[in-house]
Amino acid sequence: MTVSERERLHNLFPDLDFDPEALRAKYRAERDRRIRTDADSQYFESTGELAKFAEDDPYTDPDFDREPFDLSLDVVVIGAGFSGLMAGARLKERGITNFRIIESAGNFGGTWYWNRYPGAQCDIESYCYLPLLDETGYVPKEKYSFAPEIYEHVQRVADYFDLNDRAIFQTRVTQVKWHEDRGRWQVCTHRDDRIFAQFVIQATGPANRPKLPGIPGINDFRGTSFHTARWNYGYTGGDHTGGLTKLADKRVAIIGTGATAIQCVPFLGEHAKTLYVFQRTPSSVDARGNKPTDMDWFKNLKPGWQRERRLNFAAVLAGQSFGEDLVSDGWTDIARRIGISVFNRRSDLGDLDMQEIGLRAEIADFEKMNEIRTRVEAHVSDPDTAEKLKPWYRQFCKRPTFNDEYLATFNRANVHLVDVAGTQGVERITEQGVVANGQEYQVDCIIFSTGFEITTSADRRVDFDTIGREGLSLYEHWRDGFRTLHGLASHGFPNWFTIGINQNAFSVNMTAMFDDQAMHVSYIIDEVKKRGKQVVEVTKDAEEAWIQEIISQAGAGVTAFLEECTPGYYNREGTVGRGANMQNSGYAPGLNVFNALLQAWREQGDLEGMELR
Ligand code: NDP
Repeated sequence: MTVSERERLHNLFPDLDFDPEALRAKYRAERDRRIRTDADSQYFESTGELAKFAEDDPYTDPDFDREPFDLSLDVVVIGAGFSGLMAGARLKERGITNFRIIESAGNFGGTWYWNRYPGAQCDIESYCYLPLLDETGYVPKEKYSFAPEIYEHVQRVADYFDLNDRAIFQTRVTQVKWHEDRGRWQVCTHRDDRIFAQFVIQATGPANRPKLPGIPGINDFRGTSFHTARWNYGYTGGDHTGGLTKLADKRVAIIGTGATAIQCVPFLGEHAKTLYVFQRTPSSVDARGNKPTDMDWFKNLKPGWQRERRLNFAAVLAGQSFGEDLVSDGWTDIARRIGISVFNRRSDLGDLDMQEIGLRAEIADFEKMNEIRTRVEAHVSDPDTAEKLKPWYRQFCKRPTFNDEYLATFNRANVHLVDVAGTQGVERITEQGVVANGQEYQVDCIIFSTGFEITTSADRRVDFDTIGREGLSLYEHWRDGFRTLHGLASHGFPNWFTIGINQNAFSVNMTAMFDDQAMHVSYIIDEVKKRGKQVVEVTKDAEEAWIQEIISQAGAGVTAFLEECTPGYYNREGTVGRGANMQNSGYAPGLNVFNALLQAWREQGDLEGMELR
């Protein structure tokens, strides 16, 4: 730090009780020892036996069989998670009914179908997260819903829109191919269905593929192992509320300490004979403070309240609102104090220069993270363990987590934290257990809480190819980065849409984001029909213009922030700023700005950037 920077810091914050430069140095050192040159490819070796984690469905009859379908449809939606569900709902709303939703799982739900681990909960407020509360009249039980309530609500939405008889479950799509002569997509499945559709909406979700680290020996383990997204209650006993009584005589290892582990570790600690928690990077764990819904408040909400609340939540998170904070929770507290996008705050902060805004945000971040680290000390009695549980990075380098039981679990005599940061992860897996820091931990069970492939290449995450006009593969088209208009459609792929997180605004409140995209896509399909046309396709120029918009909005500020971060999927395992393709960024100004842009596009009425024929 230069002398003038030091002076400025002192003038702005004369009473600081910590040394910002020392914290910066600590964060950098922690980041550097975690950076792996193999980045995302550290997860590529996880095939072999364990690839079954991604394919097995423990919740359905494995012997299920049926005759192939022969269908001619208006629309095929691929995926029945919240994005596919909302696509179906919004098509129905527009009177488009000749469609099917194809899904490999045995029911609707996506993430909430697969993730049934004990303690699974949504950390986004239920009043914002659960869609269509206004319409269905459903009152969430608590401020933060647990997985079973969310799964139930998924079924409620499917019933409300009468989507059940439009679903084709336990069916994997194997290829999607455009037939120019017919003006139709052929959708091939592993059940040999013969399905042609005018439109395809791909809604396969951002976290559909469980991720396994390429740890040497991962396939050698002789005990029981499973991924948290395929929890084996047959082995552990119990259900999402706990009661894992079959673990009473078991030594259990859990690898990973992200948002999932934070929720299930307390249950494992309570029931396992011995629990080893292998931690590479600690999560930031703030208070949860869940509470039952105040029925008086809920009953008095006016129609349209949910949309208003979602807009307010997105605005506060994007640093675009400093007035009312309707949600007022851990997420909005962080955003309000730190300013997730300091650049958006420019106008509210008057004459301050960008450097000062950045500095203020950084100091607020240090203060918040100091609180998080102090919270660790308050909950964990062993000082050495507490020290290892402290996160040393800026708040939004990794997904913040919220839990009231996780930290105290390490006070149990049967629970051991194994810090593997020094070796950049678990070293090896043997027939008997897990090797870390040169020591073998013999266990009966290994649970992989290692997350999902969120930033690996699109074709790895989706098991089928999409072949557009002139035999072009979608993944070939996207080889050097996503190429879309608004993240929703691509040139060379007529009548094809995707709902997700590619080149559009990202929001932690994913259901809101997906619903807005579903509304937009169903609008376009409806317009094609109303205008008596057959085909709609993004022009090459419009696609190129959107790519340039994404890159320019990604901006140096966000890149510089992510570059300083400890590796994770937020900065593509530490590659952002070190050659990562900024074309793969989201739309930086955030959800509300993106939605306003889409709305203006619809109101303009000429489907700008799309060719109709
Ligand atoms: P994450 O990707 O967040 O965490 C994976 C964990 O595995 C990290 O702690 C990672 O360490 C660790 N890991 C990976 N490889 C190794 C290795 N070789 N050795 C040791 N440790 C390793 O996955 P989660 O399932 O926890 O969460 C995924 C996402 O799902 C969340 O970020 C969130 O978006 C969503 N989620 C949302 C919830 C909600 O409440 N809405 C709840 C749960 C999940 P490192 O950090 O060092 O890479």
